Amino acid sequence: MNNCAVVGINWGDEGKGRMVDLLTKDFDIVVRYQGGGNAGHTVVNEYGEFALHLLPSGIFHQGIVNILGNNVAVDPENLCKEIDLLASKGISVAPENLKISDRASLLMPWHRDLDCLEELRLRDKKYGSTKQGIAPFYSDKYQKKTIQAGELFFPERLHEHLSELCVWKNLIIDRVYGAETYTMEYLKRWCHEYLERLGPYICDTTQFLKESQEENKKILFEAQLGALRDIDFGIYPYTTSSNTLASYAPIGSGCPWIKIEETVGIVKAYSTCVGEGPFVSELFDEEAEKLRKEGKEYGAKTGRARRVGALDLVATKYGVQIQGATELALTKLDILSYLEKIPVCVKYKIDGIETDRFPFPSLLNKAEPVIEYHDGWNCDISKVRKWDGLPEQARDYVEMIEKETGCQIRYISVGPEREAYIERRRR
Ligand code: GDP
Repeated sequence: MNNCAVVGINWGDEGKGRMVDLLTKDFDIVVRYQGGGNAGHTVVNEYGEFALHLLPSGIFHQGIVNILGNNVAVDPENLCKEIDLLASKGISVAPENLKISDRASLLMPWHRDLDCLEELRLRDKKYGSTKQGIAPFYSDKYQKKTIQAGELFFPERLHEHLSELCVWKNLIIDRVYGAETYTMEYLKRWCHEYLERLGPYICDTTQFLKESQEENKKILFEAQLGALRDIDFGIYPYTTSSNTLASYAPIGSGCPWIKIEETVGIVKAYSTCVGEGPFVSELFDEEAEKLRKEGKEYGAKTGRARRVGALDLVATKYGVQIQGATELALTKLDILSYLEKIPVCVKYKIDGIETDRFPFPSLLNKAEPVIEYHDGWNCDISKVRKWDGLPEQARDYVEMIEKETGCQIRYISVGPEREAYIERRRR
């Protein structure tokens, strides 16, 4: 494989972590290029089961360099906890296998506070934030009011910068929300603590990537969330605050000159959507409860029940298009094995007119799903490792998605474990 991005086609939680963990063996470097600790990539391998929030999913492989790129919201508190957790399970995270871009901004304690305070203020109009500080972080970044990781190495300038930010942030925390403000003493201690812990990992990752490319090293770009959460092309404002699309990967990773040759889009065999916002193919009541239970659809970060729905072909086709997916991995096909008839949303009906085109977000609330039923296979497929071993109805389901999206499904995942998948020959 050449340089490749592994991205979500839907609303996130498609199983990207699981696919990155599987594909990493063909690469030298894994880079996370956006987002922060607000989502969880679940990986099941020989070390156990892990929910990674910030660390790239290549961290379990020996000899792989993992990078947190310049557009990642580096949350020192959670990152250190994650490193410690992995260390306690025998997985070493050292400057040799983890590098943090010196241009990545730091998620400060006030970002998490402001996220919680704003959701509280919004009450029933809240966005359903994971309250990890991501939206306040990115708004500050674009206001040029964050600390870049590399600044930790320049204490004098850092303290000056920090005190300017502290005055400004305290005004908002106090006057807008009436909450407890920050002292410089606390912030200096905070910076000192995380310089001690994370300093060895922080470096010029752009230079590292340039040299790696000259040595023909292969790079895998790992996204967080999915196409429909992209801030520009997703279901705004129920998106995340960064660009989740593959075309953004080289920029957010620190190597804007690199061309991505392959984009593996991850599609879940049914739909899930966390938090608020429109979700056209949503299922309810018993039907939803059963699917949620079978699919264990509870957030890796928050534990909250995910909304579940029928596979949404309108959204999936759009996701494939905007991600520029060159091939797909279909995950959790095994979960649908209990169904005799599988619901699939093939079109939307908006104001009485059927369409297969994903609409402008304001129209999504009006959209009704047009559901068709696909024959189920009604048997356990979790041990199947070959295409021919899948029941005919399961193969039909896969081929139907391929036909609708116009993109080959190269991998079919039938279980959370690394080896539980079927690979088809590339066409
Ligand atoms: P990510 O954020 O896209 O990496 O996805 P999550 O980790 O939030 O959610 C995917 C969940 O599904 C995880 O718990 C995985 O272990 C699990 N999973 C992934 N692929 C499969 C599969 O093919 N079958 C089953 N049963 N579980 C899977």
